[in-house]
Amino acid sequence: MKTSVIGYPRIGKNRELKFASEKFFKKEITEEELKSLAAELRKENLFKQKESGISFIPSNDFSFYDNVLDTAFLFNIIPSRYTTLGLSDLETYFAMARGYQGDKGNVKALAMKKWFNTNYHYIVPEIDDDIEIKLNGAAPVDAYKEAKAEGIETKVVIVGPFTLLKLAKYTGTKSAKDFASQITKGYIELISKLSDAGALWIEFDEPSLVKDLDSEDKVLFEEIYKSLLENKKTLKVLLQTYFGDIRDIYGEVTGLDFDGIGLDFIEGRKTFELVKTNGFPADKILFAGLVNGKNIWKNNYARTLDTVKELKNIAGEIVLSTSCSLLHVPYTLESESKLSADYLDHFAFAEEKLTELNELSGLIDISASGNVAAQVSFIDNQKLFHGRKDSKDEAVQERVAGIKDSDYTRLPEFHEREKVQKEKLKLPLFPTTTIGSFPQTQDVRQNRQKLRKGLISVEEYTEFNKKKIAECIKLQEEIGLDVIVHGEYERNDMVEYFGENLAGYVFTEKAWVQSYGTRCVKPPIIWGDVSRKKPITVAWSKYAKSCTDKPVKGMLTGPVTILNWSFPREDISIKESTLQIALAIRDEVLDLEANGIDIIQIDEAALREKLPLRKSDWYSEYLDWAIPAFRLVHSGVKPETQIHTHMCYSEFTDIIPAIDAMDADVITFEASRSDLQILDSLKENDFQTEVGPGVYDIHSPRVPSVEEIVNALNAMRDRIDDSKLWVNPDCGLKTRGETETKASLINLVKAANIIRDDKRK
Ligand code: GLN
Ligand code: ZN
Repeated sequence: MKTSVIGYPRIGKNRELKFASEKFFKKEITEEELKSLAAELRKENLFKQKESGISFIPSNDFSFYDNVLDTAFLFNIIPSRYTTLGLSDLETYFAMARGYQGDKGNVKALAMKKWFNTNYHYIVPEIDDDIEIKLNGAAPVDAYKEAKAEGIETKVVIVGPFTLLKLAKYTGTKSAKDFASQITKGYIELISKLSDAGALWIEFDEPSLVKDLDSEDKVLFEEIYKSLLENKKTLKVLLQTYFGDIRDIYGEVTGLDFDGIGLDFIEGRKTFELVKTNGFPADKILFAGLVNGKNIWKNNYARTLDTVKELKNIAGEIVLSTSCSLLHVPYTLESESKLSADYLDHFAFAEEKLTELNELSGLIDISASGNVAAQVSFIDNQKLFHGRKDSKDEAVQERVAGIKDSDYTRLPEFHEREKVQKEKLKLPLFPTTTIGSFPQTQDVRQNRQKLRKGLISVEEYTEFNKKKIAECIKLQEEIGLDVIVHGEYERNDMVEYFGENLAGYVFTEKAWVQSYGTRCVKPPIIWGDVSRKKPITVAWSKYAKSCTDKPVKGMLTGPVTILNWSFPREDISIKESTLQIALAIRDEVLDLEANGIDIIQIDEAALREKLPLRKSDWYSEYLDWAIPAFRLVHSGVKPETQIHTHMCYSEFTDIIPAIDAMDADVITFEASRSDLQILDSLKENDFQTEVGPGVYDIHSPRVPSVEEIVNALNAMRDRIDDSKLWVNPDCGLKTRGETETKASLINLVKAANIIRDDKRK
């Protein structure tokens, strides 16, 4: 049986691309140097897959920043404010991704959003009425040729036209369907170039098909693909879907002239049923996504073999595939030197998934005539599924079972608390604050590294951080911020840090996964039942409080985010794991309160991440337990303790009642990169919680002017009552430099002061 990979990680085993790009941004290396490193990384990936015996190896899955941006760029979806800067192609591309501030001009970055239900972020293509979609260059053809020159035949992978149009933001009066014929023409031209170059397969990634589709969507899809497929020339076309099942459009998809159809049998709850009840066309290849591209647990070979066996009765040719791109898992277990085999044996990262594909394909071939159960690879695999060392804790399970309904409700209700808190905290109108972290400069990271390597004592480590906290607080006081944070110098990452202090977690050293552009995260792994070992942040917050008379905001990560940014267990439900984590964080909240911290922020940056892609599943499969899990964390505090939460991305227009039901006192969220529609919706929904929509973008190094922030705030005041508006950046400042941070925050406070004096209502 042949095997297929949808996409491979590209940041480099040791994050080489990240470091080189960052050097390029600082002008420390040239464009040529960056490009040649990228070529090396691509080559390495290709050979790795070839050596693992993968039959369908992807090309064009590499990206300097993001594949959606690559595709938009390829089809000339480039707003004129970027082209007029007069930069090189690559620099224009980076200007769209990161914004540009320099001698050629000053523009913000395009919006960024989460890629379906993952923690990867894509750049949102922006289409105005004047944009002409057309093929602009031939990057995918070059990628194909590059691999071919190495002797490797690849399938060329590209974000499909339907998904591209669906993800784009339309700033004029036109919408997706108005661009259907232009985009189709562009893709046809690409097909023809690939065909001339001798390519055999093209893969169109269409994850948008797993969402709810209406009749207009279906018409759009069919219109585009009918004419694409009429013009496929010598190419074979694979329609690849992932992150769910395509129940709304299965009939149409299987009726079109595709040569292969890729379906996700891991996340697609109904995929198997769809294939079984509707059949699968005999003249097409079924690319069966059976090796999980998103999680790191070993594949259960017995289960996969069973599924393949059943599928063989239905479909003609089957290719064994990953369920989605391997972009979402780390490179290789080989980089892990600290975890013992007791743990590592249970995991498969990208490289090990290649091995799984290969072993499975061998086992499937054997199963046709021979005895699979006698094979070493099968026996070794099955041993892993008979229980895991140290994964159960009865006390934790009992505590979860004992949660009462009343534990999910904080009393008294919000309005009463709001009054008490205003009296107690005596904050000015438009209170200013930050989201928590301050720049993680070299010295901060080194301090943590030295401790980890045993080069300094815990006392030395703590002293250094205390010095940092004291300086950070002095800086915030000088700038004039109202609610002070300690700066989060003890954290490498807002989830890993908590994981390290919770029983039930295991950690990797180099298991980085790309989050956006050059940013990577190293998700910890939930191995077993979770509980708090000891207080986690209390000492830092207490120390911070001792440095200032202003209110200090304690800083925690919420249970849903901890879950969503970890690799979850597959032997118990994510709901169960989340409740375990919620109880652990609840203990921390109560300890902070007992130590005099009046304001506690519980970040739920990733709340939306696991929101089902289909609306009909939102509550029953997710929000109905995720929101109560958050309430469980803070329901035990006194009325005067102010609970904040923070969410990255303001994409919650459609779940506002659920956000309100988190019952926080203040919520801050990203707003500067998106339009203010969210604020209109808050108003329409009579949202009660106080809000701090971010007034400037922290993903970009540019410093916002006072005027810009005043304008943003005034637009917010048109929609939100003055008494409910907080002033803060979009998100934490840890990725920013010190100079730009200080300059930006000074402007933020100046802007707040200006609107305080402007009694316009
Ligand atoms: N408190 C965190 C910080 O400031 C929040 C980060 C986030 O939302 N991603 O870094
Ligand atoms: Zn954030």
